[in-house]
Amino acid sequence: MIPESTGNTSINEGLNFVEQYIKEDLEAGKNGGRLNTRFPPEPNGYLHIGHAKAFIMDFGVAEKFGGTCNLRFDDTNPQKEDTEYVEAIKKDIHWLGYDWGDRLYYASDYFPQLWDLAVRMIKEGKAYVDEQTSEQIAAQKGTPTQPGQNSPYRDRPIEENLDLFERMNKGEFDEGSMVLRAKIDMASDNMHFRDPVMYRIIKTPHWRTGDRWKVYPMYDFAHGQSDYFEGVTHSICTLEFVPHRPLYEYFVKELADESYCPRQIEFNRLNLTYTVMSKRKLLQLVKEGLVAGWDDPRMPTLCGLRRRGYTPDAIKDFVNRIGYTKYEALNHVELLEHSLREDLNKHATRVSAVVNPVKLVITNYPEDKTELMEMDSNPEDPTAGTHEMPFSRELWIEREDFMENPPKKFFRMTPGKEVRLKGAYIVKCTGCKKNDEGDIEEIYAEYDPETRSGLPGADRKVKGTLHWVNVPTAVEVTVRDYDRLFNVENPSAEEGDFRDLLNPESLKVRETVKVEPWLAERAKDGDHYQFQRIGYYTVDPDSTAERLVFNRTIGLKDTFAKEMKKG
Ligand code: ATP
Ligand code: MG
Repeated sequence: MIPESTGNTSINEGLNFVEQYIKEDLEAGKNGGRLNTRFPPEPNGYLHIGHAKAFIMDFGVAEKFGGTCNLRFDDTNPQKEDTEYVEAIKKDIHWLGYDWGDRLYYASDYFPQLWDLAVRMIKEGKAYVDEQTSEQIAAQKGTPTQPGQNSPYRDRPIEENLDLFERMNKGEFDEGSMVLRAKIDMASDNMHFRDPVMYRIIKTPHWRTGDRWKVYPMYDFAHGQSDYFEGVTHSICTLEFVPHRPLYEYFVKELADESYCPRQIEFNRLNLTYTVMSKRKLLQLVKEGLVAGWDDPRMPTLCGLRRRGYTPDAIKDFVNRIGYTKYEALNHVELLEHSLREDLNKHATRVSAVVNPVKLVITNYPEDKTELMEMDSNPEDPTAGTHEMPFSRELWIEREDFMENPPKKFFRMTPGKEVRLKGAYIVKCTGCKKNDEGDIEEIYAEYDPETRSGLPGADRKVKGTLHWVNVPTAVEVTVRDYDRLFNVENPSAEEGDFRDLLNPESLKVRETVKVEPWLAERAKDGDHYQFQRIGYYTVDPDSTAERLVFNRTIGLKDTFAKEMKKG
């Protein structure tokens, strides 16, 4: 059990603070009682679990209060954006069960309106073309305690501004040579008000608008207005946008009136231990081949988590547990894993697999006999039923389940002791064979024919139960074992190059894992299984007809829940 005091109200009956604001606005009849949210990803990378927290709120709150949620691609920087990302983003949102219906938008759709607004602001003396370099502009910005300095271009005539802005967009000037700035207040307490840049020159063609534009709006000049053009009522984003809010409101005021005005609300980001959440860093990992791709099962991306074996319900449950607050926090990946384990425990089919095999020979079992043992497919699911698993004289068992000279309280296989082979017989170990190096090559046991599971006499108690796979019918598969991607809890808080903090042991491949034939026949891409006594595994898309590949999703043991119980 997880304690309820995670700063979260949504696991209780109550509403979180964002929902409360929205409820108040709706009750006050603001915006004609409408609710319209939006999720505004920039298509410059794949979505990660932090983005999921954002869109679970955006789509979720719309669902909860009978509103709508737009998907808007914030495609204002053609240098970094790509349709590959657009398609991946749509897929990931759908995967979590949300849909934007016919409300798919692009910030680039508003370039003409944004342009018109910029021209109007120039005409009203509220914007000017600055010919200084970005370094000069930055140097004049001042500090939070010191006012900035006016640009020498600040008071150029309106006609000149209009002419230059037109020509900027025709491509007459180089990138970086000019920007359009809002003329607000170089002494403002809010740094974002010190004549923020509205437009910059970019000559890379845009994937949607081609070479129609040579100037592109900055985030602050595009976002609020895009919300307005779309009729968005609540623009929910993360806390780093708090200082941008006055500017958001400033630009929106150029358009809005009392009948309708979008409102920005900020909540805390999701940050996970042992990983990074910055798209720039994730892109770097992909580009430099430090992971196998955006969907590498070690990545915090939604496609990576999916490939690892995470389920939409597990992700949503985790987001619900961490909640939405006004305080930044570092969220423990163990809590995410806890949510995953709970979900997989309910749904994953149970199978037998031996990941580190050693042969067990049952010396008193007939050589040519095979029995079919009935195995529960999922005791947590009454509809799952059973399946049959062949049993014969030679079986694979886990190497770790045998010890020749065990310590006390070792209840697995050891000479002279009895254990139950799950769903089959009680066997008594009689010894083992070693090679010249002393490695164990084979283990020997004798079975008790009176103890077959399910038959009278089978209830004789022994302490240990081991899983096994029948040697003649076993299918060999590949398993990819994963560990944390980074060696430190919070790589973003460390000095130096984040790549030096990568865990070199984060991927280990096992090529000789033995699984029961029933699994091999039915396993298909994305299926979740519980390898009994070992953990949860998910079929990887790299699987072929010749060889199945599994990703180790998560172990069975929930140390986090245990720690929580202890308090
Ligand atoms: P960047 O802007 O640096 O490229 P970003 O992660 O902010 O990266 P966007 O595509 O702008 O990417 O994000 C879309 C939305 O997702 C934004 O509203 C943002 O607030 C939200 N978001 C991004 N990261 C997180 C996070 N870790 N937790 C919660 N929400 C997030
Ligand atoms: Mg962003």
